[in-house]
Amino acid sequence: MIYYRELILDRASESRKDRKWLEQQWTRQQCRVFILRNEKSLVRWSRRPGDMPQAVHLRSAELSLLVDDPARAIFLGLDDTGPLFALDVTRFRDEDLETLVDDHEFIDLREIGWLLDGQQAAQLAYARGLVFWNRHHRFCGSCGSPTERRNGGHLRRCSNPDCARLHFPRTDPAVIMLVEDRSEVARPRCLLARNARFPSRMMSTLAGFVDPLESLEETVAREVFEECGIRVGGVEYQASQPWPFPSSIMLGFRAQALTRDIVIDNDEIAEAHWFEAEQLLEFGEWGDDGDNFCLPRRDSIARYLISSWMAENLER
Ligand SMILES: [Zn+2]
Repeated sequence: MIYYRELILDRASESRKDRKWLEQQWTRQQCRVFILRNEKSLVRWSRRPGDMPQAVHLRSAELSLLVDDPARAIFLGLDDTGPLFALDVTRFRDEDLETLVDDHEFIDLREIGWLLDGQQAAQLAYARGLVFWNRHHRFCGSCGSPTERRNGGHLRRCSNPDCARLHFPRTDPAVIMLVEDRSEVARPRCLLARNARFPSRMMSTLAGFVDPLESLEETVAREVFEECGIRVGGVEYQASQPWPFPSSIMLGFRAQALTRDIVIDNDEIAEAHWFEAEQLLEFGEWGDDGDNFCLPRRDSIARYLISSWMAENLER
């Protein structure tokens, strides 16, 4: 399973352009609103053993004292139950939120994503991505004037009539790749590395952002060479994962090593090694105590790429 994919939601791309239609959705009894603050989502979680976190949504009627204009909320879409919105309360005062927050808490989805139901995780990820984009595009990049929210938060328009530039939500492509060594002298091995920013012992696949004027295959080859000094070829697409943390899509690849000597980029990579599939069985889980290497989190495409490779190579 790849997390944050296959969101079952009618995004109503045409209808959401109509402000009156959006207001009608907001006032429907079934309207539910996810609340976010500083990119953290409102969640219910006792932390008792066996208890899993649950996304909290409030009825729009419960928010009437806080939100006088539905245009302040971001429209996510319609599901079987009804309309779904997201509301960013980052700029609200603590005392205004007290009654809403109640016994819930704001938690970053990145800390709990894989503990949630798959649809809830995808809904919260979508909300997080759109809230982030709206909050960080309040001014026009062309002329510096304030931008105004349109289409339920899926478009921002420059308020300067001489500019009137339209700004749409961005998605930044990043590649992530499992490099394998199938040279005849060795059993198949894969290259995993620990980024200097990762928790200690966490080993993962390499990844990096696509540069301007670069094909995805070229990005894969450049990143692997820059970070680990390995030349690769045979770059093949595997799968993708929306990754709105804050605004990426991860494009997963497998690549074949053409050279084997690892030379790490010390600025970015703390360590990198070749591993056979059996060795990966000894790895712990992300967050485990102990001295063993551990695998990336279960909600990451890195984990999917590694698990798929292990499954293929343990069968031999
Ligand atoms: Zn402008």
